[in-house]
Amino acid sequence: MCAQAASLDTSRYPHRHLLGISGLTAEEITFLLDISDSYVDINRRDRKKLDLLEGRTVINLFFESSTRTRTSFELAAKRLGADVINMSVSTSSIKKGETLIDTAMTLNAMHPDVLVVRHSDSGAVSLLSEKVNCAVINGGDGSHEHPTQALLDALTIRRRLGKIAGLTVAICGDILHSRVARSNIHLLTALGARVRLIAPPTLMPGKIERLGVEAFTDMREGLKGVDIVMMLRLQTERMQGSYVPSIREYFRFFGLDREKMSVANPDALVMHPGPMNRGVEIDSELADDISRSLIRDQVEMGVAVRMACLDLLTRSLRGAFEAEGADAGGEVGG
Ligand code: ASP
Repeated sequence: MCAQAASLDTSRYPHRHLLGISGLTAEEITFLLDISDSYVDINRRDRKKLDLLEGRTVINLFFESSTRTRTSFELAAKRLGADVINMSVSTSSIKKGETLIDTAMTLNAMHPDVLVVRHSDSGAVSLLSEKVNCAVINGGDGSHEHPTQALLDALTIRRRLGKIAGLTVAICGDILHSRVARSNIHLLTALGARVRLIAPPTLMPGKIERLGVEAFTDMREGLKGVDIVMMLRLQTERMQGSYVPSIREYFRFFGLDREKMSVANPDALVMHPGPMNRGVEIDSELADDISRSLIRDQVEMGVAVRMACLDLLTRSLRGAFEAEGADAGGEVGG
């Protein structure tokens, strides 16, 4: 077993699942980031495979399409030695609630250790977690939360700038429909960053200041002196009706380009969770500028963060089963 195995104190993350960042303490978030950090180095080695999850089964259950998140979880689980099944479930012909619970019960009967779930409805992953015996990781639920995205964003920032506390981070674009924004607001404020949200009034949620952020409807105002600019995709799949006059207008006022970046801190860095719409929310050349853009680092950090989450949650499961077995004075499950 590797050195990490001996040193992980699972009592520092006393949760069975990872459903969101909201509700986690700064210490729990930092613990997850510290474990993730050690996986970055492992992923840069020639031989990346570990046996920590040997004999474990991870199911990626995606009710909504995904390329990077699903691939990232799959790679993370395989690098830890788990058996991985990918399931893409269409919700078109059956009532969504029924599909979700039925599928959860069916999969539960096959004894997976971890379910990674993405669903278009906010709250669906949490509901599912109540019906199964395994650990559940939220791979994105509607416009609610995408916890591993916020963790990978934080790891990317922390590795580049050495800290999160005291930084000013602007999150820009379609805040209203973005689970990435919500998870990042919770995480960044918990770790002591100042968060600004910048969006057209139609894409800014009401009373958002309650989450401890500042809201702006003008990019040049909101970007003044920021250290990090996180751009968001226009989530057209969640829009009913028209929220922006035209793509051209949107890019003119809310698309990130060098001219708008000029009011930010001179060393300010650019992030984007992907998939990116070049020329809609971000200028293509800026997105590819490796001196300003952290977008590739974010993808790399994603695998490390997901390895850390899978590692930690399966250890916690083992701990719980061992305790159950010990209490019963009999066999140990798991
Ligand atoms: N990939 C992110 C998500 O699943 C961001 C996006 O889709 O725009 O929420």
